[in-house]
Amino acid sequence: MFDPTPIRVLLVEDSPGEADLVREMLSQTGASHFEIEHRVRLSGALARLRPGAFDVVLLDLNLPDSRGLQTFDRVNAQCPSVPVIVLTNQTDEEMANEAVRRGAQDYLLKQDTEASLLVRAIRYAIERKAADKAMRESEQRYALAIRGANDGIWDWNLIASTIFFSPRWKEMIGAGADQLTSNPEEWFGRVHPADRPALEAAIQAHLDGRTPHLEAEYRLRHTDGSDRWMLVRGLAVRDSNGTAVRMAGSQTDITARKNAEARLLHDAFHDALTGLANRALFLDRLQLALEATKRRDNGQFAVLFLDLDRFKNINDSLGHAVGDALLQLISQRLADFLRPGDTLARLGGDEFAILVNGVDEPSAAVHVAGRIHALFAKPFLVRGNEVFTSASIGIALTTTGYGSAEEILRDADISMYRAKSGGGNGTQIFDRKMHDAAVALLKLEMDLRRSIENGDFIMYYQPIVSLTRGRLVGFEGLVRWRHPERGLVAPQQFIGVAEETGLIVPLGWWVLEESCRQLETWQRRFPFNPPLSISVNVSGKLFRQPDMVDRVVGILEHTHLDPSSLRLEITENILMDHGEAALKKLTELRALGIELQIDDFGTGYSSLSYLQRFHYDTLKIDRSFVAEMANSGDADAIIETIIGLASLLGMNVIAEGVETLQQFRLLRGMRCPQGQGFLFSHPVPPARAEELIRNMPER
Ligand code: C2E
Ligand code: MG
Ligand code: MG
Repeated sequence: MFDPTPIRVLLVEDSPGEADLVREMLSQTGASHFEIEHRVRLSGALARLRPGAFDVVLLDLNLPDSRGLQTFDRVNAQCPSVPVIVLTNQTDEEMANEAVRRGAQDYLLKQDTEASLLVRAIRYAIERKAADKAMRESEQRYALAIRGANDGIWDWNLIASTIFFSPRWKEMIGAGADQLTSNPEEWFGRVHPADRPALEAAIQAHLDGRTPHLEAEYRLRHTDGSDRWMLVRGLAVRDSNGTAVRMAGSQTDITARKNAEARLLHDAFHDALTGLANRALFLDRLQLALEATKRRDNGQFAVLFLDLDRFKNINDSLGHAVGDALLQLISQRLADFLRPGDTLARLGGDEFAILVNGVDEPSAAVHVAGRIHALFAKPFLVRGNEVFTSASIGIALTTTGYGSAEEILRDADISMYRAKSGGGNGTQIFDRKMHDAAVALLKLEMDLRRSIENGDFIMYYQPIVSLTRGRLVGFEGLVRWRHPERGLVAPQQFIGVAEETGLIVPLGWWVLEESCRQLETWQRRFPFNPPLSISVNVSGKLFRQPDMVDRVVGILEHTHLDPSSLRLEITENILMDHGEAALKKLTELRALGIELQIDDFGTGYSSLSYLQRFHYDTLKIDRSFVAEMANSGDADAIIETIIGLASLLGMNVIAEGVETLQQFRLLRGMRCPQGQGFLFSHPVPPARAEELIRNMPER
């Protein structure tokens, strides 16, 4: 095939006959087309020679102005990129050989040369030179890369089983450039034993052709004794059968990256304050242990959920710094106590969880818990303070059969709550009943939420009567929940949950508004003198609302009810739990003309002292005292005392839970002014209450 691109030849030859011969030969060929420039002297040739000007130089070494190897050297020096073919005589063959050693592409004996040989020599010279150039460039790049990169280079001759390590490779493990033999064990022998199988597997996979390249991470022992994390990348060179004969690649020190990763990983799974495992890590360990138990690789175990008693008090009274230090000391004490296989975690706040291995019986778990309680017997010395604290511990055992880590932790948590409500410093083991109760509670809460949105509540009213004259004084409003599935639900079943979840606040406002509205309707229909009153139970949570008084005023205005007809029933605990702010609100409410009643009097704490602190209008004697009447002289005496004290303080008294005529007579004998109870009427729906108003003696 004819190649149209001309090959540019610089012919340097002082013999005209030889020059003609060359011209002759190059013109004979049909495949290529040559452009020949002829120079007789070296100086003439050098004047024309520039990179890229010619594809090849045909050079006679003996010229009028230069002789021998120097002729070649000068041409080569001026333009090393152009291939040179030396034209020589038999006698100068030795010299021509030397020129080839110095970089000439070839030499041709003038006498032997024929056209095809010359053309082939020129072609090869050009190709070889181009290949040399490419090779040199790539080698330079490679060398630069090796020098510039932080990588160590290795080149493994798989046949001879020798490895070349670059100086940087050696430096990475602290070895000098002249250290390390070419034995592959210099490398693999330094790989961390735990990482070696994976590295060998990765190498084998690539040698077998299962991976496109080798890539693996491992720790390599530095000469200073430490381990460095390395990333190796490599590629196998294969023979014509596909068998790997050589493998080469790089090794990068990734210790810094690995450390950063480890740090991140550690932080993600540990509690910053105590350094203990956090909830995520604990759940992870729990899950692993649970799976091992199921596979029977592992025995049963217990999860202890530990919550400090009154930790908030310590924080509030001694400050958060002391609280934090205490948590650290407790973590330390717990960690020292546990055995190596156990896991201790801080779940947050003052909550800890412990996975205790080898526990398959409740008694064993309780025993461990007992020893943990004992750890709290000694005080903790925190910044000069001797701090005593205790813990409530809930236990769940894998022998109960668990599917997930969350379940077992949840049950331990539920048990801890049980232990806590027992007064703290105790232990509870989880059982099925607790679980069912917890589930039921959760459902109740969800139902309650929905019902408050839907308004599934109604008010029942229970008459309050004057014991002296038997006349109807007013009503206590008592809420009922119209549960979509369970029908009417009494307040004992849900008021507690409503309080805990804060749902009592919206519910409480509804109760107040509905009761006021109802009473105002009745007052218009039955204009008694004095008018009927309404008693409404008010939760302590409502007293926490900053706008509580304003809202009560708003409800009274909007229902047009006179404040003096409204009685708010509160328990003694409100003042205990809500302090001065509550006291202030009570005073404001009272100033509005609203009457305040103490509900369930006698069941709270420090009853009598609180009576002196704040002036209430009415005491409602708890029905437990009334129930005891006639059975025990003590109850009678207490009731008489309360009535006497109340009249001394100018207070009204209502006896709750009057069920029998006997109780009624006894109370009347004690000059108890008013009563409420099944004897007179159960709490009833509004229509029924209205009938009662109609039929009850009014005076
Ligand atoms: P309480 O305020 O002491 O209400 C009196 C409770 O005693 C009512 O129970 C009433 O049905 C019951 N009772 C009345 N007479 C007798 C009797 O002769 N014998 C017996 N054994 N019981 C009698 P109820 O309606 O189940 O309410 C229970 C508690 O729930 C109330 O006790 C009150 O503390 C709370 N509660 C009821 N309604 C509300 C409300 O709207 N808001 C708030 N915060 N609490 C409410
Ligand atoms: Mg009440
Ligand atoms: Mg009561």
